[in-house]
Amino acid sequence: MSFTLHGIPVSRGIAIGRAYLIAPAALDVDHYLIEPARIEGEVERFRAAQRRVHEELDTLRADLAADAPSEMGAFIDVHAMILNDAMLVQETIDLIRTRRYNVEWALTEQLERLSRHFDDIEDEYLRERKADIEQVVERVLKALAGATGIADNVHGACDEMIVVAHDIAPADMMQFKTQTFQGFVTDLGGRTSHTAIVARSLGIPAAVGVQHASALIRQDDLIIVDGDHGIVIVDPAPIVLEEYSYRQSEKELEQRKLQRLKFSPTQTLCGTRIELCANIELPDDARAAIESGATGVGLFRTEFLFMNHKDRMPEEEEQFGAYRRAVELMNGLPVTIRTIDVGADKPLDSMGGGDGYETAANPALGLRAIRWSLSEPQMFLTQLRAILRASAFGKVKILIPMLAHAQEIDQTLDLIREAKRQLDDAGIAYDPNVQIGAMIEIPAAAIALPLFLKRLDFLSIGTNDLIQYTLAIDRADNAVAHLYDPLHPAVLHLIAFTLREAKRAGVPVSVCGEMAGDPALTRLLLGMGLTEFSMHPSQLLEVKQEVLRSHLKTLEKPVADVLASFEPEEVQAALKRVALV
Ligand code: PEP
Ligand code: MG
Repeated sequence: MSFTLHGIPVSRGIAIGRAYLIAPAALDVDHYLIEPARIEGEVERFRAAQRRVHEELDTLRADLAADAPSEMGAFIDVHAMILNDAMLVQETIDLIRTRRYNVEWALTEQLERLSRHFDDIEDEYLRERKADIEQVVERVLKALAGATGIADNVHGACDEMIVVAHDIAPADMMQFKTQTFQGFVTDLGGRTSHTAIVARSLGIPAAVGVQHASALIRQDDLIIVDGDHGIVIVDPAPIVLEEYSYRQSEKELEQRKLQRLKFSPTQTLCGTRIELCANIELPDDARAAIESGATGVGLFRTEFLFMNHKDRMPEEEEQFGAYRRAVELMNGLPVTIRTIDVGADKPLDSMGGGDGYETAANPALGLRAIRWSLSEPQMFLTQLRAILRASAFGKVKILIPMLAHAQEIDQTLDLIREAKRQLDDAGIAYDPNVQIGAMIEIPAAAIALPLFLKRLDFLSIGTNDLIQYTLAIDRADNAVAHLYDPLHPAVLHLIAFTLREAKRAGVPVSVCGEMAGDPALTRLLLGMGLTEFSMHPSQLLEVKQEVLRSHLKTLEKPVADVLASFEPEEVQAALKRVALV
């Protein structure tokens, strides 16, 4: 039966393919297809894990304190019964034998199926037994052990697959960089959640915040993802499929046409030169930056280098190698390396002691970004030395995330001086004039801009967080995604003020948040005085097309009208005029 789901568009384009469902419990387990000759061995692996869990339960029962509540023993008995139940055991074995799923995949798939049955049960007591099944499956998975990340193990997936999941952590999404999927759909997430940003960086259509998608879509369903509108069509009618196939080829044609702009200089109709730089997450993304015609890297989000390092942080040499690689790939063009920005929706597997943000009640307001770096000075110094060393191989700038206080800026500058001193002592080369800049992404920073103008060489406005913190909207929470509004007058005023004051002080300023890559906002930002944009490479040519069609003089009046408007209808009307001039 055909049906349509609505979510938030995060990565443009149209994908048509088969759903590749990743169940929540399955996010941490291996997914691969078993060779026919190995099937019985896989069944035996399951049996062995089942036996191990039985032994565990026996030990638990034997160790129960004499005065333990009687329910404890009963719970253990229930778990032992579930562990032998044909619904779990036989069906899992059938999935291994008939679908050739590895045991972890078969087990979590069967858990999902059982969960759906339980959700339909009216009797509350019986419905709650679902949790018992989940706990038993968890035990068996632990007994099987050795589970790793999802994407590494998605063998056998072919390239017309569209990943459908409840949620995907940014670190897991990063692993998809090496896989060839056609699109992504998740139940959770917001437009500027880091998962969405990474999905966008993969350059394939994606929709997030598509509520219940992972429950309603079944494995192998034919689906269309309309990444421009956040629409997912499941089991489309032939005529709909035909229409979307047509739109897909039209889009490919548009993309090919845009390629012609790649080598033309980026300037407005009135001749003002505009810098379009790239945001990257990994050193090799610099290739895409060069290919898109970017004139530099405006934001290298280094925290992604630190993800998927289960047991340790990358050493100085490893970091230096990565920064140097990006710098060398950019071949003399500037590379703005942002120091680690972890926390909130970008947790790390290991932070090496004392971080505490994972347990923080409100991680977006907690020990995030520079706050974390200043609380771990040795790790911060390691990163600073690695970045400085890369500056000997090309033009490097250092960008600091989430600064708000004068003393944070001063402490950071002290540590940069210290890192330089350490390199001097060791006789290691670096650029002594490397520029230091601050992200303006907390409203307090924008309002107290003179603190920044006096101390730093350049600024970069992080609109993703600036919107999050100005409007008190969690950028990763789809429940409030409808309130995440880049065009809120408060947001626009903070951006306009920052651009104006920085220009007056002669301090270069760019925008590197997602607003910079949205062609619908290019004219507005130009009219506010922005001359340096940084965005994902896949967005660059569309933004360039807008720049080439704009005349700064004619934008002045309608953009001033936008800023003078407070009522949403007035803002919209003024924005229409911005688009038309
Ligand atoms: C931002 O906040 O706008 C930004 C560019 O940084 P990030 O998205 O990594 O938080
Ligand atoms: Mg930010």
